[in-house]
Amino acid sequence: MKIINGLPVSKGIAIGHSHLLTKPSLRIASTQISAHQVSEELKNFEQILKEIVSDMDELIEKYTYTKDDKEILYTHKMIVQDPEFIKNIHFMIKEELLSLETAISKHFIEVTELFRNMNNNFYAQRAIDYEDVGIRFLNKLNGKNDEPSVIPVDSIIVASEIIPSQLTILFKQKISGICTEKGTFTSHSSIIARAFGIPAVVAVPSLLDLANNPVEIIIDGTSGKIIIEPDEETLKYYRGLYENELQEKKELKKIENLEAVTRDGKRIKLYNNIEIPDEIELISGLKNDGIGLFRTEFIYLDRRDLPSEEEQFVIYRRILEKMHPRPVTIRTIDMGGDKLSHVIYTAKEANPYLGCRGIRLALEQPHIFKTQLRAILRAAKFGTAKIMFPMISSVEELHKAKKHLKEAMLELEKENVDYCKEIEVGIMIEVPSAVIISDHLAQNCDFFSIGTNDLVQYTLAVDRNSEMVNKYYDSLHPAILRMIKIAADNAAKFNIPISICGEMASEPMYTQLLLGLGVNELSINPNALAVIKKKIIDTDLKTTEIRVDRLLELSCSRDIKTNLI
Ligand code: PEP
Ligand code: MG
Repeated sequence: MKIINGLPVSKGIAIGHSHLLTKPSLRIASTQISAHQVSEELKNFEQILKEIVSDMDELIEKYTYTKDDKEILYTHKMIVQDPEFIKNIHFMIKEELLSLETAISKHFIEVTELFRNMNNNFYAQRAIDYEDVGIRFLNKLNGKNDEPSVIPVDSIIVASEIIPSQLTILFKQKISGICTEKGTFTSHSSIIARAFGIPAVVAVPSLLDLANNPVEIIIDGTSGKIIIEPDEETLKYYRGLYENELQEKKELKKIENLEAVTRDGKRIKLYNNIEIPDEIELISGLKNDGIGLFRTEFIYLDRRDLPSEEEQFVIYRRILEKMHPRPVTIRTIDMGGDKLSHVIYTAKEANPYLGCRGIRLALEQPHIFKTQLRAILRAAKFGTAKIMFPMISSVEELHKAKKHLKEAMLELEKENVDYCKEIEVGIMIEVPSAVIISDHLAQNCDFFSIGTNDLVQYTLAVDRNSEMVNKYYDSLHPAILRMIKIAADNAAKFNIPISICGEMASEPMYTQLLLGLGVNELSINPNALAVIKKKIIDTDLKTTEIRVDRLLELSCSRDIKTNLI
């Protein structure tokens, strides 16, 4: 039995078997073989080729995802059976004396790069197909299998890190826990683990050395403990904790249906955040006031082509209809940073979080932005939609984004397409400049929502995804309290609502602080609904405001933390 400590990011106990998820990569060391190994490598190639074709046939037969995904598998099969590919591998083994693994990775790297350099959507798609097939070969050679459909039910995912594009596929599976070597509380994989209520621990040192084979493993998402190959006594203890947790969840369910009203009678609006469209099935049945943040960029992540206007229209309409009459705040595409899509081109940047991200990217690629705006405007006829722009840092930027919205409306008008003519437009407050000019911004939009995940990152100059500087990522820094206060005061002055949709809103220890700072709505992850409601019900707003005013006078976050209510 081994115990390691990491950073707990999603509460709960999970007990199961580890499943190693490797980060796909085509790059391997270049290995030469000697002439007498050639025939054996060729034989291996023939064998592996046969196995891959048969795996693909089986997958095609069993596939339950969309028709488009099935088409992709046919394309992959064609790549594998391409005579040019087979000839090239034979040549590299026989003439260049490369090992099979090296030959395969070399072939796929070359083809992938060739397509990628063509800088065109169609060829980029081909590049992804070739990369996928290459990785499939290398995994097969190394005896790994990361096909999502073969991750055993209730596995505990063990990985170096999980990138957002892997997430949407992963969460279609029934997994019971996640632990990774990298990651922080606000990385998007942690946010989604919390949304799905899956226990998760990140930043676990040496995890892959200790759990690189399937082993029994316990995750304690509350304390951050990872227990590998637990003994009987430990297992028994954690099984007990797990049972208690189920009981507690049942109790909390009762609170979930109460009204979020403070002791002195103020009704606080509580919305939910949504990332993956299918989450709507869970969220629509909860007693919330609507959706306060729909992170639409996840629609663009695990795919091979841009989602069309029609496809997006169907997604937004479904969500709006399910939530009706409750409002849904649709945040326009917030790509960049750690959320990178295969289908949207961005130049490689040294500091992607300070680069072409969020609204900047949307304004740089207006065809993508406009398609989304048209889809939202059309879908808005079927419910109460609001539009929210991410990463706004200046009034000019907001005007530009609104101009695109106006243009989308005019286009639809001209084409005689039905759309919603009255739609509220709000912005995320997540860059310090937006806070400082929040008086100007408030006069140009209908609502604010503070993205504390990024606001903390940009105010304190701390990469939200870096475990190296995690100790500097401090949500209770006096500067953060002041930032929230300034934005809330300006929202009140110009009479627009202000919510918080960053992770701070889902943490009960911050609820009273946020309310006391003047925030009147919270958008939280669905799993936190009951605990946050409980906290609101226990709050007396008048005394909370007085106590928060005192916190605002403190100069150190340590003091703020000890005096937190
Ligand atoms: C935030 O920054 O707080 C936020 C809600 O946006 P995201 O986490 O998607 O960047
Ligand atoms: Mg953000």
